[in-house]
Amino acid sequence: MNGKQGIGMTSQRTRDRMVARLREQGIRDEVVLAAMNTIPRHIFVDEALSIRAYEDVSLPIGYGQTISQPYIVARMTEILRGGGGLGKVLEIGTGCGYQTAVLSQVAQEVYSVERISPLLMKARNHLRELRARNGKLKHADGNFGIPELAPYDGIIVTAGATHVPQELLAQMAIGGRMIIPVGAAEQTLTLIERGPEEYVQTRLEAVKFVPLLGGTS
Ligand code: SAH
Repeated sequence: MNGKQGIGMTSQRTRDRMVARLREQGIRDEVVLAAMNTIPRHIFVDEALSIRAYEDVSLPIGYGQTISQPYIVARMTEILRGGGGLGKVLEIGTGCGYQTAVLSQVAQEVYSVERISPLLMKARNHLRELRARNGKLKHADGNFGIPELAPYDGIIVTAGATHVPQELLAQMAIGGRMIIPVGAAEQTLTLIERGPEEYVQTRLEAVKFVPLLGGTS
């Protein structure tokens, strides 16, 4: 072993292994896999946790919140893309900004809303470090979306919602897709597609997210 491998837990090879595991877990979208292969996930967690950044687990990011496990990030992004390109995307629950960074590589414009101010500042620094300039962040209660920038081709909610916020449904473009975990302690990943006249809801797999709360802090 040479010296370089001593710091290898955050290296490209570690990311390659993460992506190989995502494939085994059933992720098929090459655009999503390529984005996750490029983005250094370890910069999104505290240094003490960076050696665990590529494990398939969620990790604490402070303020009682977590960074979602790689499989969930990949799966939600794959569903949101639906095999096609994405124009304007709205994310609710920026957290440390990792999902935002992935989205910034697969969509033209990304707007992400976080209710906890210090987390938003951390995320802003991470995205700046990666020069993800098409990712814009806002400190607000994401239950209301960002109406002035609507409609969105994709909306992704990365916190568990007891119900689908009406304001977010209204901000979807015709032909747009929303992916949202719906439920209380445990949730069902739910895809909502907006047609010309109706919304079509498809329930997918069981997931576990921190709750979607109201207000800001
Ligand atoms: N997307 C993140 C996941 C962060 S965890 C990732 O890449 O790992 C979920 C985040 O949603 C938390 O930071 C939490 O503060 C935030 N959140 C919860 N309710 C919210 C709301 N109403 N508006 C905006 N953010 C919210």
